[in-house]
Amino acid sequence: MIEIKNLHKSYKMGSNSLHVLKGINFSVEDGELVAIMGSSGSGKSTLLNILGMLDEADEGEYLLDGIPIKNLNETKAANYRNKFLGFIFQSFNLINYKTALENVALPLYYQKMPRKQRQEKALKYLEQVGLKEWSHHLPSELSGGQKQRVAVARAMVAEPKVLLADELTGALDSKTSYEVMDLIQKINDQGNTILVVTHEPDIARMCKRIVHLKDGVIVKDEKVKQVKALANV
Ligand code: ADP
Ligand code: MG
Repeated sequence: MIEIKNLHKSYKMGSNSLHVLKGINFSVEDGELVAIMGSSGSGKSTLLNILGMLDEADEGEYLLDGIPIKNLNETKAANYRNKFLGFIFQSFNLINYKTALENVALPLYYQKMPRKQRQEKALKYLEQVGLKEWSHHLPSELSGGQKQRVAVARAMVAEPKVLLADELTGALDSKTSYEVMDLIQKINDQGNTILVVTHEPDIARMCKRIVHLKDGVIVKDEKVKQVKALANV
């Protein structure tokens, strides 16, 4: 599903340059649940943003479902992003003046799906994350865990090939974190490929494989015995 070779990324600031990713190689098979773990500043978000086509590497190769991702024009990049990728962020990134249902339906709007179909599909995904009864509520009326579940439904609604989550439990207490990770595990059990960026070992252990990032290099890549999130609730 994902294959990257010798990926490098630097940030330029005036005459200075910060070398953040220093030759990353790894691949992810269809259906994996992978944690990318490392301390703050190790380059996790930089890597995820490149995988999510929100940013470009300076050097290296990236194949997404066999398609080389390089020098795409903005239209093509946006099309691939919509078709292949779903995003989940630490701060939920919901639109405050739209209901849960409208937030989830938004990616379908960009796909120009007719309104009725959008709403039906969004409702189906809200039901999947256990929030059907909350569909007409605004984000401000939801708890943190509920907001993140809306964000998970929104990430899934266009049925992307890969879900990319950046510190998705970072703003949640531990019990709520485990509930959201339980949802992530269930979605993965249905066959979805998911990458979870986290600095928390407890969260990483709920994945099936942990890629350890340190100062812009992968220092360890291990299959782990998955801890079921509900065991912690
Ligand atoms: P992590 O997600 O693991 O905390 P990041 O990928 O966000 O790490 O950041 C890695 C390093 O790159 C940090 O030193 C950070 O300050 C720096 N950095 C991140 N984004 C930018 C940017 N847009 N411009 C300059 N430096 C950046
Ligand atoms: Mg980060």
